[in-house]
Amino acid sequence: MGTAQSLHVLKDELRASDCMPLVFLGHGSPMNAIEDTPYSRAWAELGRTLPRPQAILVVSAHWMTQRSTLVNVSALPRTIHDFYGFPDALYDERYPAPGAPDRAREVISMLADHHAEGDDTWGLDHGAWAVLKFLYPKADVPVFQLSIDMAGDLPHHLAIGRALADLRRRGVLILGSGNVVHNLRAMRPGGAPYDWAEAFDTLFAERLEARDHAAITDREGLGSLLKVAHPSLDHYIPAVTVAGASDAKDRLVFMNDGIDLASVSMRSFVYYQ
Ligand code: ZN
Repeated sequence: MGTAQSLHVLKDELRASDCMPLVFLGHGSPMNAIEDTPYSRAWAELGRTLPRPQAILVVSAHWMTQRSTLVNVSALPRTIHDFYGFPDALYDERYPAPGAPDRAREVISMLADHHAEGDDTWGLDHGAWAVLKFLYPKADVPVFQLSIDMAGDLPHHLAIGRALADLRRRGVLILGSGNVVHNLRAMRPGGAPYDWAEAFDTLFAERLEARDHAAITDREGLGSLLKVAHPSLDHYIPAVTVAGASDAKDRLVFMNDGIDLASVSMRSFVYYQ
């Protein structure tokens, strides 16, 4: 399903609900943050379509921790420029949204069984601000980030999503930011998508539609296809956590499907009810 059609469906069907949608965005190259691309245009359109949340919890591929899950409690999260060798214009970007310390503390207690802790050193990395600047250009919705524990297996990240699901009924938008396929070593600007990139992207989309969460978190079952699609799992984990926060009443719509740079899937999705 193409982007225009997907957003059209959302516009027609997203109505006032006491349950916030869930969003996963494939963010791809940091250049999407300052260029007018089909992806950034779709993010802006999505921002005009979504109900306005009271706060946004971002699960970004770029905040990786080991054996801990951190929740940023900053009142004014700083903009982090966590990339190298890009044009100055990208380093000049700021996303001055307020934080949500009270919500963050709520999340720490919701994740008590997962050893979550508060953190005041992180802020908003580019996985967060590069998409938020299009979704909410005024930076007037409070935002806070959750780290991904790289020592946790995929079922752990699914369980984190499940533990956070109740936030949807408290006005919080859970936003995952990563990529469904992400192999930087294989990247080829302007190149045709690799067969394995398309294969993993399609498999993931099919399993997600079937609500087969066991399949998308089964490292052994996904085997060599997962290894080549994700030499490291950081960009995959936010998609798994977002799926974990969904339930059987949700409808699922895809947008921005397509492979950029031959090895980076831009596929994004929204759950809503
Ligand atoms: Zn990234």
